[in-house]
This record gives sequence, structure tokens and C-alpha cells, in this order.
Amino acid sequence: MEDSSSDSPPARAFNGMSVFPLTEMVIDGTSEVWPTFGRPISVSAVLKMDRHGSFVEFSRIPPPGAEVEKVELFTRCYLHLSQVMKAGPKLQMWTVNDSEDTDGPSKMLAFGLQFGLQKENDEFHSAIQEHRNNATKLETVDSGTMSISTENKFERKIESSSAKMYFHYYGQLLHQQNMMQDYVRTGTYYAAVIENHADFEGKIVVDVGAGSGILSLFAAQAGAKHVYAVEASAMAEYARKLIAGNHPLSQRITVIHGKVEEVELPEKADILISEPMGTLLVNERMLESYIIARDRFLVPNGKMFPSRGRIHMAPFSDEYLYGEIANKALFWQQQSYYGVDLTPLRDTAFQGYFSQPVVDAFDPRLLIAQPIMHNIDFLTAKEEDLYEIDIPLEFKSSVAARVHGLACWFDVLFDGSTVQRWLTTAPGSPTTHWYQIRCVLSQPLYVLAGQPITGRLHLIAHSSQSYTIHLTMSASSIIPGSNRVGTLQTSTAKLDLKEPYYRMTQSPAFAWSQQEQQQQVTSWLPQ
Ligand code: SAH
Repeated sequence: MEDSSSDSPPARAFNGMSVFPLTEMVIDGTSEVWPTFGRPISVSAVLKMDRHGSFVEFSRIPPPGAEVEKVELFTRCYLHLSQVMKAGPKLQMWTVNDSEDTDGPSKMLAFGLQFGLQKENDEFHSAIQEHRNNATKLETVDSGTMSISTENKFERKIESSSAKMYFHYYGQLLHQQNMMQDYVRTGTYYAAVIENHADFEGKIVVDVGAGSGILSLFAAQAGAKHVYAVEASAMAEYARKLIAGNHPLSQRITVIHGKVEEVELPEKADILISEPMGTLLVNERMLESYIIARDRFLVPNGKMFPSRGRIHMAPFSDEYLYGEIANKALFWQQQSYYGVDLTPLRDTAFQGYFSQPVVDAFDPRLLIAQPIMHNIDFLTAKEEDLYEIDIPLEFKSSVAARVHGLACWFDVLFDGSTVQRWLTTAPGSPTTHWYQIRCVLSQPLYVLAGQPITGRLHLIAHSSQSYTIHLTMSASSIIPGSNRVGTLQTSTAKLDLKEPYYRMTQSPAFAWSQQEQQQQVTSWLPQ
């Protein structure tokens, strides 16, 4: 929470302008036509901020002689939802999304602002730009006093269109059901909570991103004194319904509809519970919300379930997968597709297919080296630590092979005071809805047994709640006809974690016995 009331900017007021309401915006090729209707309305504007961000409050100025004492509120326009354009020396055009709600319907409001003087237009315009940049400091104007409350970090870093789709997705029961039906996932959470009931008994719990409310109900079953179930999507309503139908647990659970970045809770939590993991652990960028929730709601030295995550990585060799991806681009190899030469887009298509991380459950025998891992401690990590994750890679190939890329999976730890439990998504372990993820190189590397493979996995967060993956892998080249190595061969890939290729059909190689599976993977399972 950022707090410094001393440098809070005072609310600024502007007069001498009138509003033209606009019904619609017609865009005809090069010029934009703004049909107007109605009479201009004299308004004053005040620049303010609240916990949602900076906004302009327009108020109607009553005509002279009118017997209206109070200035009537006309409209409140949040700047992060508004586009402001100087359309002439004395004219501005505004288009404003009327809704803060990321999962409900929204309307556009358009209006023109006519100024008496060009100077007034310029001053108001630059004040707005300045005010927009001030959005990091959010103030609550409350009966004349100003105080700065928490900034909404979520809205500052995440594009509203992405958030809208994201919370729309989680607002649907079928997607919550999909996660609930992942019995490895839900069963591990249940076991971790019930076996460690001592960590919940008589405790205040916050469920970060409660979804259906299932984890809140588990915490209540384990004897929590009270659970605050915070959920940003419309699923909050269903969670209320589900919880209400589970008497008497419902008496100890309160559902709060909102983002953990913005809601206020009446008390601090002794323990947080959450399921914030996406593919490659960090996809969806919800771990950042988990960390923000820790800083906002958790008592010092409070517990987190889970408290630690690890990304595991190993090089793999999979000719079949490589061929499948490369072959997809073959379509663009045609020189006469209905008489059209498609080859100008061949390279683009090839790169496009290799920029998709592959999500499926693969046979761990495809791994050609012992995995390495990268730790994220949820108890101590800073939110900013997750903006950029840079992992040096160093492996030793156990076989001679063509290396097709890097395979990744993750696990998380429930560090209970009674039992420690890992939830793992490792290849060869019972499959979860996260599967595993593979980054495929368009140029494979050739290695000999015992040869080092080095490189870097560089993840850069983007505003669509995911990451750009930059992968570099290198190995010394093999001198033809000999078993000796020469100069370095390096291959790179750039992938978007937001655009995975879901490849669920498993190759026949995956139909192997449980016993064999155990022998293959035990050394890679969490200890
Ligand atoms: N806890 C549930 C749901 C997990 S899915 C379960 O284990 O089954 C993650 C949930 O977190 C989604 O429902 C999503 O809408 C919610 N969520 C994601 N980011 C959030 C945020 N910043 N604030 C509140 N809820 C959030």
C-alpha cells in the first residue's frame, strides 16, 4: 500500500465550456464525422481521483436566474476509460467507456466540449494529460478531506480488454467445473488443508480469487474462524449461492466481489489460500495478485497455501512433434493455390507456428537431461520480481540426440505445520489440467552424450496477463565423422505464452505401464 497524503494534488476546477452530446461517431475512411444533437449545456469540470483512478467530474451550470441552488452532477469520466482529442482550436472530442466493470456490458458515451477561448482548451487539455499521469496516486475525496488509499495496480498494468475477457471466462461455471474436476489439483488442495487443519483452526483466512468458493469451504471445514472469499468475476454470485447452501459452514464465510487489489477487508488474515497458478506457473499473472494480497491482508509471518512454486526445465528430443509443427507451415509452400503463389508468407507462417508454446502431456523419456529448477518464494517475492524472470540454463545431455527445445512444468508447496505437500504437474505424474509446456526451436541442435547444453529462458510479462518467452539454447557443434565438438551452435525462439497450441492427442509412446512410469520419473519428482 502506498501512502503519502502530503503530496496529494488538490482538485482543480475549470469553467467556461459547454458540452454537445453526440449520439454516434461515423468514421468514413479518412475523416471522422461527429453528428451532434441537442443544445449545448454549460458545464464546469473538476479533476479528481478516487480508488478507481483519476476522473473528470462535469457538472451542469444552471442557466442564470434559474432557481436551482445545487450544481447538478452531469457525468463522471474516468481518464483510463476515456479518449480525449483536440478537434479544433476551441473544441475537444471525448469518447468515454461508461463502465468500470470488466465482465459486464459497457456503453460508449461521446460528446464534444466547446470552449470560449483557445487558451482554455489548451489549459484544460494539458491539465488532463497531467492528471492522467497522476493515476498512480489515488485519493478518496470524502466530506472535504482528502486521503490517499491503495492504488489499483491491476488496472495500471493490465489492458482492460484482456481483463474483461479473463474475468468473463472465470465467470462461467463450466470453467470453474473444469478446475474442480482436476482431481489431482483439487484433491491435493483438500488433503493439504485437512491434514494441516491446525493451520486453519480458529484462524482468519483470505481466499485469493475464490472462484466457486471451493477452497473457502475447505478452509471452513478445517475449522477456520472466518474466511473472506475475494473473487473479481461474476462467479462471486455463484460462490455466494454455493456457500449459502452449505450450512453451517456458510456462517463463517463472506464472499467479496472485487479484485484483491481494490477491496478492503475488515481484518487481517492469519493465512491466505489461493490457486493462482497458470501454465508455466506464471501465466495469467495472478501470482502478482497473490503477492499483492499478501502485502495488503496478511499479518506479519502469516502463512500462505501454497507458499512456494518452482518452474522445472529440461531439454527434450521429439522428432514427431517437430515434424508436426514444421508441416503445418507446408501449406504456404504451394506456388499455385488456385493459381496463387502462397510462398511470400511461408517464412511468416513457419515462425508463427514455432511461436506457440505446445501444451500437452508428454512421455518423460523424451527428456534428454536432468531438469533444473527456478524457485519463487511467495512469502518473500516482490510483485515486481515477476515482471521479468531470467533463468540461466545449464544441462548435460545424457544421450546423443537432436534437441528440439525446452520442456517446462511446475510444482507448488503447501508447507503445513503438520504435513508438507507438493502439487506437481511433472511429466509422468498424474496429468493435471495444466499439462506440461514445451518451447520448440525452429532450428534443432545436435548433441552427443555428456555434452553441455547452455542458454537462457527469459520471460517478460505483458499487459495481456501473460508473458513473452525468449529462449536461447546453445551447444558446441559436432565435427562431422568424428565424436569431437567444434564451434557453438545457437538456436533462439520467441514465443507468446498467451497463444499456446493445445495438443491433447497423446502419441502412442505415452501408453506405457505405471511401473515403468515410476522408474522413469522418480528422480524428478519433488523430494
Ligand atoms: N479458488 C478457485 C478458483 C481458482 S481460478 C479454485 O481453486 O477452484 C482463479 C480465480 O481467481 C478466478 O475465478 C479468477 O476470476 C480469480 N481472480 C484472478 N485474479 C483476481 C484478482 N486480482 N482479484 C480477485 N480475483 C481474481
